[in-house]
Amino acid sequence: MSRISNRTVEEVNSKVNMVEIVGEYTRLEKRGTNWWGCCPFHNEKTPSFNIMPEKNVYHCFGCGASGTVISFVMEMEKLSFTEAVESLARKNGIEIIYEGPEQSRKEDGRENIRDLLINLYDRTAGMFHFFLTESKAGEKALAYLKNRAVDDETIRKFKLGFAPGKRNWLHGFLTSKGYSGDFLAASGLFSRRYPSLCVFAGRLIFPIADRKGRIVAFGGRILEGDGPKYINSGDLPQYKKGETLFGFNLALPEIRAKKSIILCEGYMDVLAWHQAGITNAVAPLGTAFTPEQARLAHSFAETAFLCFDTDAAGQKASYSAILLCRKNGMETRILDIKGAGFADCKDPADILKNHGAEALKKVLEMSILDIDYLILNAGASFDLGTPEGKAKACGYVFPYLEVIDSDVLMESVVSRFSTAFGISGRALLADFQKRNQPLRRETAEKEQPVAGRKIKPGAELRAMLATASNMQFFPQVRNEINADDLEDPAARDIFIILEECFRNDSVGFDAVLERCGEDNLRSIIMKAYASGEFSENAEKVITDSIKLIKKNVLEKKKAGLIARIRLAPVSDGSYGGHDVPDMMSQIREIDEKLKDLKDA
Ligand code: ZN
Repeated sequence: MSRISNRTVEEVNSKVNMVEIVGEYTRLEKRGTNWWGCCPFHNEKTPSFNIMPEKNVYHCFGCGASGTVISFVMEMEKLSFTEAVESLARKNGIEIIYEGPEQSRKEDGRENIRDLLINLYDRTAGMFHFFLTESKAGEKALAYLKNRAVDDETIRKFKLGFAPGKRNWLHGFLTSKGYSGDFLAASGLFSRRYPSLCVFAGRLIFPIADRKGRIVAFGGRILEGDGPKYINSGDLPQYKKGETLFGFNLALPEIRAKKSIILCEGYMDVLAWHQAGITNAVAPLGTAFTPEQARLAHSFAETAFLCFDTDAAGQKASYSAILLCRKNGMETRILDIKGAGFADCKDPADILKNHGAEALKKVLEMSILDIDYLILNAGASFDLGTPEGKAKACGYVFPYLEVIDSDVLMESVVSRFSTAFGISGRALLADFQKRNQPLRRETAEKEQPVAGRKIKPGAELRAMLATASNMQFFPQVRNEINADDLEDPAARDIFIILEECFRNDSVGFDAVLERCGEDNLRSIIMKAYASGEFSENAEKVITDSIKLIKKNVLEKKKAGLIARIRLAPVSDGSYGGHDVPDMMSQIREIDEKLKDLKDA
């Protein structure tokens, strides 16, 4: 099977700007020569994700994630190594050279299915948009949008569409264009039971884009007849609904600029905000707001504005979104449509339609902090005049207290709640801690580190880490020592990896990481690389350590020889086949070498 050449891989690693690539996923700030941001791989509030531009590698001091621009793209976009290299090379105008037999790559299928599906969705979205805007078939859908005050520009911007009502039309059309039945069956566009029937037929179509603006899925709203109000694409090779936010690609510039994001309930709300000129609005996709979506939001936003329905379900959704946003360190504010004086409206789309864009801006300005929102809700739900009501109100805010991890913030939050509920702060806190203790213990147990090899960095390991970070010294190292000379198993494993790279003529740091199967080992190699510990003094560390290693080897050999001489049965004068004089001369040689090492 053909593979991408080392040359292409090395060119990608050296030419692609990692700060630019990672910057699409998290907000980066420059400190010194390095860039820092909140880690896209784990939840955190303060940045511990580090990029060293000169080396083009990243390392997270929080979760230990590390690697090159290729591994980053593999992880973030769920691509294979080959796909990641191809995608980066294409985007950066780097020629892709393959090695080995030519066939099989295309036939592999898996590698291309994502691209094919993205292409299919993009094409289909284009057709649906045409049907909505240019054909008689889309008239009703268009009238519905006009009635909801959605203007032409918004329809264009979001590529809204209409799927023709004839349920087998799309299948016939795509088949005539050469798509296979099997491929279409797996595309998510058609019914499982009746593979020629389009599930979105007769519906108003909201195309869902990935962050690059490529259409990867659809949401469809029913216009007439029976059926669920909305049908949304499920997970597909090119789309994970729990990790995607509707409108994110269009909202990103404003989210970056304002460092804030508006999370709303559905497609129509997002449309309304954008049409009103407030373009940092997004929506989860037919699911509750997920931790992955919160992380995505927090990658670029410091403040989250929540704009969910005010019914019971909406309130529950708001509360869990508050917790997720707070967990990610975002300040969280709630939009209160009724409180802002628009009691006749139930959602942003209504406000835009009935009161115009300025009214929506007013709602945003009148947002309240999450803590005030919880106090208002508690007051409305429980009778704070009774001890039972007070206890219930406290129980209601405990989940919120749980996600607060700053003592300062905790103090002021407790003081706000206790004043509002008419109890002492001490009582609130005592109840909270009582309730909380078993839970904390449980999580502490869960977070016990996974058993792994203990690695203590002695001279051997230091030498191998310094060499891994500076492969140009490896030829010299392998001249002086070999893997068996190393006692530390981790150091020996690294030596073997470096030897493999050397023999395969792949001397880049990426090649080293790629061959490193064990996560623990990979992480310490990366950490050493990322810390820059060996960037200046590698040669000295390596020479000094090699001296120590050689000394160690010689002394072990000497000790072995001495032991054998002691054991040699000298009584009959035959030495039992042991050549003691020879062993003695070997020891003298070793002593000479040890002396040389000391003098050098
Ligand atoms: Zn991390």
